[in-house]
Amino acid sequence: MEMNNKKRRQSMLLYVIIALVIVIALQQSFTLFQHTSIQQVSYSDFLGMVNDNKVKNVELNTGNGKIKFTDGDVNDPNTKKYETSMFPNDDGLVPLLQQHGVNFSAQIPDTSNDLWIYMLLSYGLPIGIVVFFGWRLNRRMKKAAEGDDPSMNFGGGFGGFGMGGLGKSNAKIVGEKETGVTFADVAGQDEAKESLQEIASFLENPQKYADIGARCPRGALLVGPPGTGKTLLAKAVAGEANVPFFQISGSEFVEMFVGRGAAKVRDLFKQANDKAPCIVFIDEIDTVGKRRDAGLTTNDEREQTLNQLLTEMDGFDNNKGIVVLGATNMPDSLDIALTRPGRFDRRIPVELPDLAGREAILKIHANDVKMVPDIDLSVVAKATPGASGADLANMINEAALRAVRMGHTLVTQEDLVESVDVVIAGEKKKSTVLSEHEKNVVAYHETGHAIVAASQKGSAPVSKITIVPRTSGALGFTMQVDEDEHFLTTTTEMRNKIAVLCGGRAAEELIFGEATNGASNDIEKATQIARAMVTQFGMTERFGMVALGQQRNRYLGGGSELTCSEGTAEDIDKEVQRIVEEGHTTALETLRAHRFKLHEISRYLQRKETITGEEFMRIFTRDDGFAPNLPTA
Ligand code: ADP
Ligand code: MG
Ligand code: ZN
Repeated sequence: MEMNNKKRRQSMLLYVIIALVIVIALQQSFTLFQHTSIQQVSYSDFLGMVNDNKVKNVELNTGNGKIKFTDGDVNDPNTKKYETSMFPNDDGLVPLLQQHGVNFSAQIPDTSNDLWIYMLLSYGLPIGIVVFFGWRLNRRMKKAAEGDDPSMNFGGGFGGFGMGGLGKSNAKIVGEKETGVTFADVAGQDEAKESLQEIASFLENPQKYADIGARCPRGALLVGPPGTGKTLLAKAVAGEANVPFFQISGSEFVEMFVGRGAAKVRDLFKQANDKAPCIVFIDEIDTVGKRRDAGLTTNDEREQTLNQLLTEMDGFDNNKGIVVLGATNMPDSLDIALTRPGRFDRRIPVELPDLAGREAILKIHANDVKMVPDIDLSVVAKATPGASGADLANMINEAALRAVRMGHTLVTQEDLVESVDVVIAGEKKKSTVLSEHEKNVVAYHETGHAIVAASQKGSAPVSKITIVPRTSGALGFTMQVDEDEHFLTTTTEMRNKIAVLCGGRAAEELIFGEATNGASNDIEKATQIARAMVTQFGMTERFGMVALGQQRNRYLGGGSELTCSEGTAEDIDKEVQRIVEEGHTTALETLRAHRFKLHEISRYLQRKETITGEEFMRIFTRDDGFAPNLPTA
């Protein structure tokens, strides 16, 4: 409810500001009008004009002490009007006016029409406007609270605002006629596209399906991690089928007054019904569609909204051609009523892109920027496992921004490669100036990672080492890039990875005899892998193939929740500790064996700040005449 009040106050403020602006504008133009049509003169000028016989009529207002006078007949349009202030105790005025044959009169204030109009315009009108706006607002808010003014949207109600009144403002139920997006704009995601293609063709020709008696899915749920193109795909369906697209986000329902969410759903489907065939897209559907549990923490508003959504989905005529698409990255938390047949009965996974997918996405977005002709996008695709479509689109844009900054007319390979670092690790941070000693520590730390990685069989080759601080807080990083993609990871590979992560800390200990806090991120990652090995992958002898945890949310990188006894949890912790410690030992042994290389490469890195994988390997594999004392394990 706090959100609602905040929004309400915000919109109230907006209306008051608009009213004030109108008032001020009116007053300004009124005074302006007064000033242009009536010329202000001094009293002496006035007397001078009387003496020159230029004044025909004089009207004295005793109320405000103003003298209005004209140089001709009052009804003559060419007559100019003047105004001056009465001079106190000027007894000679009346005789002077008489002497020059001026027609004069005086006005008693409370019968003054002018004054009344003046008062009305300058005070009455503004007050009226404010009162009117306030009344409108009040009424709309009351209606909104009752839930029968579905067009009201306090959040972004600017869309339908016009001078005529604050009528319909369907700001958030975006009925986009042309989404302008087609499947050609979505790279990769072939399975998702295939599944959606059928929906598109149904929308294009619902009758064809009705004739044969086929029932098209009413709804499909796009599930996958953020940034993988769910929204884009939904728009593309509308674009392919050439039908209107209504979009609303689940979070908008929840922020509303009680009863508003349900009303909005009703309105959304009413609009969709008028425009069918069409697509109704509900983004972040998990916010309304969360499983209703029997606990105490019920949310009436959300439940009402969800119920209304279910009712609407059951209610509409299937052959009219309304398809409801939902998107979520928390499919497991959805209410089962939503995923029943006849509702969101199709579930379409939209996963993170693989190597080919990443390259295809880069290619699509590269079309929007000017690049040197021989640009190699595959380098970036290889270096970015785990990146989403949104990340990749962002990288292309970062590259273009860098190109402009560097004064390039085309995006170069260097711009592109730099932008990968920016998206992965943040901008270079100039304000962080490391002391020579700190730089030394970071150089040994990063080289430690790299040497452990390079001395393992089958680990991804090191492609870059840098000790330039980043805005993300990293003081340096070592990048490993696999030539091709794996979909399975062996126990050995996981242990190797943990050893590589321990390599940074191990190098610090070996050389400086003391640890720094620089390894915190490595520790976190190593522990995460070890824990998954124990609780999810059944990779330990101690527990075997028993699932000890339940994954919380696989699309948002959530860890797992333990589903075991307290005693077992303790044992799990010990096991995790053992695995990480093993990796640490391996790392220490490896670095001891390559101690001379560690020194040499660290010094080189400290001098150059960034070195490529080739430079690293050249030094690391150079034969110095003696074989390193490799660990046996
Ligand atoms: P989601 O809804 O899954 O969080 P979006 O559809 O909003 O992700 O994607 C964000 C942006 O990322 C898109 O506007 C697009 O520029 C880019 N993008 C994501 N996936 C793809 C893809 N498969 N092909 C092309 N661009 C993509
Ligand atoms: Mg989205
Ligand atoms: Zn590290």
